[in-house]
Amino acid sequence: MNTINELMKHGPVIGDGGYLIELERRGYVDSGSGRERVGTGRGSGQFTPEVAIEHPDALRELHREFLNAGSQVLQALTFFGTREKLNRAGYGSQVEEINSAAVKLAKEVAGDKALVAGSVSRTQLVEREGMESLAKARDHIAEQIRLLKDAGVDFLILETFFHLAEMKVALQAAAESGLPVVATMSFRPLVTQCSDGHTPAECARVMADLGAIAVGANCEQDPSRMLPLLREMRTAARVPLAAQPAAFRTTDECHSFTRLPEFPDGLESIQIPRQAFTEFGRVARSEGIGYAGGCCGCNAAYIRSLAQAAQAEHQ
Ligand SMILES: [Zn+2]
Repeated sequence: MNTINELMKHGPVIGDGGYLIELERRGYVDSGSGRERVGTGRGSGQFTPEVAIEHPDALRELHREFLNAGSQVLQALTFFGTREKLNRAGYGSQVEEINSAAVKLAKEVAGDKALVAGSVSRTQLVEREGMESLAKARDHIAEQIRLLKDAGVDFLILETFFHLAEMKVALQAAAESGLPVVATMSFRPLVTQCSDGHTPAECARVMADLGAIAVGANCEQDPSRMLPLLREMRTAARVPLAAQPAAFRTTDECHSFTRLPEFPDGLESIQIPRQAFTEFGRVARSEGIGYAGGCCGCNAAYIRSLAQAAQAEHQ
């Protein structure tokens, strides 16, 4: 099996994505909808990854579907798997178990057909407690990265960070692991800047300077709304672009689906068709995007459309 760096030399590497929303739709993940307070104890989680130990067959099946659709990378479902987030969802004593089970499942399905990435996201400490919590966030992220490395991931995907400051401490923790890192920020409510006020170009430059082998964006926007910000990133970074767009329509006033009233219970009404991922695949190929996957709203049909279009000339 090639490394992620080697794979990126041969056109867009096809990722996967959309695990939590898809498993929520299948009845295995909690969205936190309708609850007054989320993250306040057991059973109060919101899109946390305990499905890896509670319904492993459901997760195994979704991995199989993405692999069969053309994913060259399977992401272990370790998103929101820091001790901070799992603690608030009532799974603090099972952080090691959840992270290692998720990696084991992904590796079992991937075999020698796909690489396995560890997914690491923000802690939500910065949103709740502000920048003074960065050191604590760093410790939580570093702990999760150690668990993922011990479990045997091939590389890391740092994704869905809203603050560049938190992405920076995550990249520093990742660098200590020695694992290759793909880094993608999420932009809301508009694609013009991240939550601590940096443009996509600035984010791209900083992430590349801190060692990411590919930089870009994930979640919140569909491909057509994300592409302009990715092109802005390309002007600033000398490393390949990584793109994992969502499959939900946003508005000119609000470029993020999680800030629309349709989140989380009306998402079906803003679902975009899979043809958008065929077009995204064509652009990924023609514009030389290094890593192209999906995020919330995608399932195997979207990834297959993406893979077929992105690899059309490689057959
Ligand atoms: Zn997403």
